[in-house]
Amino acid sequence: MVPKACPDCRSGRLYGHGTNGQTYRDTPIHGKTVQITVNRRRYRCQNCGKTLFDPIPDLDAKRLATSRLIAYVRANCFQEPFAVVARRVAMDEKTVRQIFGDYVEELESTIRFVTPRILGIGEIKIIGDYRAMITNIEHHTLFDMRESRKKPEPLAYFKTLRDKDRVEWVAMDMYHVYRQVVQATLPQARSTTRAEAGVQGFAFRNDKLVERNLLLLRATDHQCLY
Ligand SMILES: [Zn+2]
Repeated sequence: MVPKACPDCRSGRLYGHGTNGQTYRDTPIHGKTVQITVNRRRYRCQNCGKTLFDPIPDLDAKRLATSRLIAYVRANCFQEPFAVVARRVAMDEKTVRQIFGDYVEELESTIRFVTPRILGIGEIKIIGDYRAMITNIEHHTLFDMRESRKKPEPLAYFKTLRDKDRVEWVAMDMYHVYRQVVQATLPQARSTTRAEAGVQGFAFRNDKLVERNLLLLRATDHQCLY
């Protein structure tokens, strides 16, 4: 397939610029990592000088991986720690986190979830930043992911949360900001710790730090209940 236009400047004036063998990671087979090498035609844009490859739908446009491997990573990140997924597909953990981060962004822009009856607030470190993670504990699903856990962000978020009357329970860390925000914006909801809520969902499997917090919470459950 010949690319139609330059992705940078949209110019259609492209000319052949040789071929280049590229190695892509693919989904593991019988527990073994798989790589495939594809000889791709290269083009150069006459307008801006950018080089690009012939588009192949089965290959991910952003990373040296097949589309099905990206799908595999996305699906498995909901079940297992990033490090485990990373090892199995021979990618570094940072890349796996980034793939998952992109996926979450995509979900945010395309899907509207029903406001949870039992809402969990946790956090996850993606590419060096802590983000507030809102989960539906009843259904073990991610409800939303917020850019920051600093007070103005969750405050604005919960103030304007749609159908917030639906929330009956909030399970969260001892992080004081969340407690204050929930008291101010979801006065009808009863609060508990996530440990007390018996959360085994994906929120705690994907990040060691979150798991450590959870252990700490378990140790102090009685003090945590309020
Ligand atoms: Zn161009």
